[in-house]
Amino acid sequence: MNTRKLAFYNGLKMPRSNSLWFGIKNLFTNASYQLLPGACLLCGLSARRNIDLCHACEASLPRLGAHCDICATPVHSSGICGRCQSQRPAFSTVQTDLLYQYPVNLLLQRFKFGGQLAAGRVLAQLLEWHIREQVNNNNCTLPDLLIPVPLHWKRRFTRGFNQSEIITRELSRQLKIKHCLQAVKRVINTPAQHHLSRKDRQRLPGNAFAPGRSAKVLQGARVALIDDVLTTGSTAQSLSQTLLKAGAKSVEIWLLARTPLDN
Ligand SMILES: [Zn+2]
Ligand SMILES: [Zn+2]
Repeated sequence: MNTRKLAFYNGLKMPRSNSLWFGIKNLFTNASYQLLPGACLLCGLSARRNIDLCHACEASLPRLGAHCDICATPVHSSGICGRCQSQRPAFSTVQTDLLYQYPVNLLLQRFKFGGQLAAGRVLAQLLEWHIREQVNNNNCTLPDLLIPVPLHWKRRFTRGFNQSEIITRELSRQLKIKHCLQAVKRVINTPAQHHLSRKDRQRLPGNAFAPGRSAKVLQGARVALIDDVLTTGSTAQSLSQTLLKAGAKSVEIWLLARTPLDN
């Protein structure tokens, strides 16, 4: 059985990295950007590059700056924040480059609630560039497996898609890392947490996640968990615990954006 078939039976989706189809598709994508340059999603001017965002708008995006090495909370000096020092999270680190502020929040809302896939693709590309830069600077190595934060089936049904799955597929294709959509599932439909106060969030049920039908892919894997935005980190924490219990070797979090400060 070849690698792709074996991966399929294990619930893994392989990036089409070596196929002729992948090469042709990439060639056409790049050619289409040259022939039909997209408009910048923020200012509407011609982007003139392989991302729908012009140089000026990209330069104006709010960047994370100094942050905790583990949870990426913005802090005044580098190192590990007080909360991570007193209780080390289950995940090893959080990778993100953007702050959830205007206009990043606008792009994310257009993608998540307006279904504008182009906005999601731009945010995924920015995350991909950040990861590549980190790898090139020897700050990290690429993980073995990408996993999206799952939505409860009811919320997925009403929204029509899981934004984390779309980002995961895009990153898997671009970075040539395997991904799996059924390694873990959400078993409790918790309310959207960004509307809740810290006190209300702490009252939520302990673990809303359980291993999914393809959980065996987690055995010994260095996993990156893909989410759109980190607010308190409670979802990241309980999901990481579930993945580690199910056999993952380590878990890191990849985010499109981080909230400026915990509320
Ligand atoms: Zn622009
Ligand atoms: Zn921290």
